[in-house]
Amino acid sequence: MISTLNFPYHRVGEVLTDYGDAIWIPANNNNFSQSDCARDVRWIVIHSIEGSADDALNWFQNEKAKVSAHYVIDYNGKIYQMVREKDIAWHAGNWKYNVYSIGIEHAGFADKNMFTDEEYIASAKLVAYLCRKYNITIIHWEGIAPEDPTNGSGIIGHNQVPDPKNPKLGGGINHHSDPGKFWNWDYFINLVKKFYSQMSVGG
Ligand SMILES: [Zn+2]
Repeated sequence: MISTLNFPYHRVGEVLTDYGDAIWIPANNNNFSQSDCARDVRWIVIHSIEGSADDALNWFQNEKAKVSAHYVIDYNGKIYQMVREKDIAWHAGNWKYNVYSIGIEHAGFADKNMFTDEEYIASAKLVAYLCRKYNITIIHWEGIAPEDPTNGSGIIGHNQVPDPKNPKLGGGINHHSDPGKFWNWDYFINLVKKFYSQMSVGG
């Protein structure tokens, strides 16, 4: 269900980003699937880059990558949009989850405690906006998400995306572990709730 609330578009050069505070750096066209209508977004998938924001920006612009994400967040809280929300970014390692989700990459590592406050705050504002826009309940789903993404909705780590071949296992087809144990879910979800409550309806 797509919310009928209007969200302001932001013009960067000649390109409109979906999220006002984002900087548009498009992924290579070989790294995502185009869609000509709005999607039924049910899931937000949180990733860590296993590197810097620049690493993700560079890789998703490389035609050989065959991966992408909608948004990339830097340590300093800067947000880059690389794939339009209506288009299907290749981030989850599970085609159905790609179809029903938005992927957000964060500068940092699954096994290092490097996520910054600026990053959490920027990400939580973005996720609050997405949850309102797509009518997603602000919950961190427990455990592996359902095999069929239309059987639930919420906010998950990449590690919680089911392996399409063995849906009891997480992390998509390649069993990724990000964002990892240092991603502070309680802190993050509380920030999302706070920013969500501060958003003006229809604004
Ligand atoms: Zn990931």
